[in-house]
Amino acid sequence: MTGGTSAGVSKNICNCEPAEDEVVEEMEKNGDEDAHMLVEDWRLHKFQSPIELTHDDSIDHDHFEPLEFHGHWDEGGDATFTNNGFTATLRFMNRELPSLRGGPLHEDEFVFEQLHFHWSDDDHSGCEHIFEGRAYSMEAHAVHYNAKYKNFQEAQDKHDGLAVVAFFIQATDNVDNPCFNKLSSAVMDIAKVNSLTTVQTDCLTWIKEVAQCKGYYTYQGSLTTEPYTESVTWILYSTPIHVSREQVAHFRNMKSTPCEKFSIIKNVRPIQTPPMHKKLNILYARSHRSSSPSPARGSE
Ligand SMILES: [Zn+2]
Repeated sequence: MTGGTSAGVSKNICNCEPAEDEVVEEMEKNGDEDAHMLVEDWRLHKFQSPIELTHDDSIDHDHFEPLEFHGHWDEGGDATFTNNGFTATLRFMNRELPSLRGGPLHEDEFVFEQLHFHWSDDDHSGCEHIFEGRAYSMEAHAVHYNAKYKNFQEAQDKHDGLAVVAFFIQATDNVDNPCFNKLSSAVMDIAKVNSLTTVQTDCLTWIKEVAQCKGYYTYQGSLTTEPYTESVTWILYSTPIHVSREQVAHFRNMKSTPCEKFSIIKNVRPIQTPPMHKKLNILYARSHRSSSPSPARGSE
């Protein structure tokens, strides 16, 4: 996924009011029409996400500059965590926003917009990408927009507009990941749709170790929610981040409708397969140096 707003895979249709059957019927009808139009639109392009990938199908690439994360796990400013009825979204404000440089992004700087999660009703199908035939419990998407554009909205339909870093999360046992707790415990405060809570600003330390791995997969794809625009440079780390089953379970308690009868049980887009005549290039990138944490850019 990645769109800044809600959407796509599951419509937040609340049909718990029998008196509004006709309204619901109309919404579902419109939803189908919208889906049809979107499918027709993206078939014109071909590079939709998520995808299934394997190391053998990727091309080794040793010539990128190191991919650099700047400020993602720093303290400062404010951080909010919200429930939009589809996912939990983290945003930073009142500070210099984290940024991404190097690697497949070349000379461009990409500014952090938000980080959100995908999950499912069990611990074995909550990721969007599939790596080596394996699915994980969750997938986190750190969404960045190209600083050459004014903001995320202006960037999201440009071919070089977005960079999304994807992290796999695996529920393994009942030992909490203490770094992940800053977000997984805050999920309980945003059970209601459109609710918001503040979180500690250094709440992304759980991605730090994996984000500093030298190897990652990258390809050009799309948003996995509406409007499915093919504007994303995907950067995917194959090493999963381990958390407890309970930490993942908290996310399934988030409500998807104002009436609170429905929870966000699954928010995963199915795997998209490129047409036969379209070859999707997946690069396995290895930097010569480790990614440098902020603020010591290029100090290694
Ligand atoms: Zn996403």
